[in-house]
Amino acid sequence: MKVTDYFEKAGDQTLVSFEVLPPLKGGGMKAIFETLDPLMEYKPPFIDVTYHREEFIYNKRQSGYYEKTAIRKRPGTVGICASIMNRYGVDAVPHLICGGFSKEETENALIDLDFLGVENILALRGDARKFDNKFIPEPDGHHYAVDLVKQISGINNGVYLDSNIEDGAKTDFCVGIAGYPEKHFESPNFELDLKYTKAKVDAGASYIVTQMFFDNKVYFEYVEACRKAGINVPIVPGLKPLTRKYQLNSIPRHFYINMPSDLVKEAEKVEAKHVKEVGIEWCAQQSKELKDAGVPCLHYYTMGDADTISRIVESVI
Ligand code: FAD
Repeated sequence: MKVTDYFEKAGDQTLVSFEVLPPLKGGGMKAIFETLDPLMEYKPPFIDVTYHREEFIYNKRQSGYYEKTAIRKRPGTVGICASIMNRYGVDAVPHLICGGFSKEETENALIDLDFLGVENILALRGDARKFDNKFIPEPDGHHYAVDLVKQISGINNGVYLDSNIEDGAKTDFCVGIAGYPEKHFESPNFELDLKYTKAKVDAGASYIVTQMFFDNKVYFEYVEACRKAGINVPIVPGLKPLTRKYQLNSIPRHFYINMPSDLVKEAEKVEAKHVKEVGIEWCAQQSKELKDAGVPCLHYYTMGDADTISRIVESVI
């Protein structure tokens, strides 16, 4: 079923959903199941699975020179989606990115997902690779998520890259996109970022999942700004609890978001081993307020930590 149909069916009720990461290469499905098994009691209608493109690594050769190699450290998104659907009977939402894909490869991936029975996709651009100073698309790939959304809308209408295909099978993907309550870090300003977010919706996206935030005010203001800009699709808050002291710096550094002073003060007051409790309490409060405000769904970035996420969800439902 489509993510947006779940929202419609739920009416005023707030749903709960989760995001998982494929394990590092060499790991198995066990870690994913260990994360999801205990979370299934909260009846998530869908589970997101992230996509990770290749990264460069440097291996020292016998000559002393370093060899640059591209490897994918976390492959398996599509297989994990199939496994999740099979084991739990819920919808899996693969993330699909522009980075590393030509348009042809994207089309083939969409065909695979359609054949597999996947009905939802979160369409993203992806970040620059480590050691690249900006996002570089494949020579025949998409520059921005909006172009990927357009390609998915095209195949939903039976339009394939090969113009000789007449009367092509129409897929029926529901497309989600990313939104940034605190602005995407590359954008010169919030208004322009919102304009490009609207372009993704106009191209066929049906819902938005936000970047994590720790201050609900930024989410509420973002929703208001979206509505003013004519973006009327459901906006799902993405939530991640603080669990370690070093994250006070690493989260803003990686995700370009602000940590509210009260949270920082609380986390700095306690010993490192108690930061997780502060983070759980904070995220639970955020979740309750968002639920009371009637958000369609609380979407948790699990980071493989089922215990922490369970404690938060338990206190909210
Ligand atoms: P876009 O919408 O393409 O925007 C990128 C930048 O370009 C923005 O600054 C935007 O304002 C600007 N822009 C957009 N369109 C145009 C245009 N036409 N002309 C000029 N400028 C434009 N990354 C992964 O690699 N794998 C994942 O699984 C993954 N999952 C994510 C899930 C969520 C909920 C979120 C919020 C992010 C996720 N990301 C993931 C990270 C995401 O790929 C990065 O944030 C990336 O830098 C931007 O992706 P986007 O889809 O928002 O890009």
